[in-house]
Amino acid sequence: MVHVHLSGGVSSAAHHKYRASLARGNVLFFQALQWKELHTYFHQAPLESTYSYVRKDRANVARYTDAVCRLCRRENMKLFLKGERCLSDKCAINKRNYAPGQHGQRRTKLSEYGLQLREKQKVKRTYGVLELQFRRYFQKAARSKEVTGSELLILLERRLDNVVYLMGFADSRAQARQLIRHGHVRVNGRRVNIPSFLIKQGDSVEPRERSRNLDVVRSLAERLNQKQIPAWLHVDTEQMRGVVQTLPKRHDLTMPFHEQLIVELYSK
Ligand SMILES: [Zn+2]
Repeated sequence: MVHVHLSGGVSSAAHHKYRASLARGNVLFFQALQWKELHTYFHQAPLESTYSYVRKDRANVARYTDAVCRLCRRENMKLFLKGERCLSDKCAINKRNYAPGQHGQRRTKLSEYGLQLREKQKVKRTYGVLELQFRRYFQKAARSKEVTGSELLILLERRLDNVVYLMGFADSRAQARQLIRHGHVRVNGRRVNIPSFLIKQGDSVEPRERSRNLDVVRSLAERLNQKQIPAWLHVDTEQMRGVVQTLPKRHDLTMPFHEQLIVELYSK
């Protein structure tokens, strides 16, 4: 999602319309055209370069479409957003191990806020969640009885696109999301095309019968045996079927996240 800075001193019909709509939390529901206007208006730059907006079921879905390994450089760690790519030397971090952009090579000492922000962005980008939805996960975690930081990560980990990826039915979370969006995934025998669907204990997840002939799914099936699968999931490689044995715990997550920094950031 684009960050929108509403500065004062500008008055136009559009500005007031956006300000009112943003105040209601309607950021995600702008028409595609309005989004472009909004971005151009506040940033004096066209939107198309970085984000594309897809109209689907009358909701606009925002998606990051720029070079993903630039994000590896920004976060100074491999994020595996394109699956295997980060393991090859195609990952840009291998060639230029510094932050992207004109000032990427400057010496920097991050402020406290800087550290918190980078940690949040790292987690957001890993799971492919945009700001508004990420904040909703945080609020949900904060309302629960559990430790907010761990609960936030666990909620993200329970997303269907993440589970499809972890089970080895997709090379990356982004690919998993597309398979789900296009109706190739079944949960408990029923088609679910919502990537943010939260799985529960005992749920079974599998590529749809007809979809197993897709090239992507087929090539993954051949590699399924070699895939390291977290202990809370079980995958029957013959049947191409996964089961959620238990819900994940904090120690099941292997990415080096410092979720406390995110809690601090949002608690300001
Ligand atoms: Zn990379």
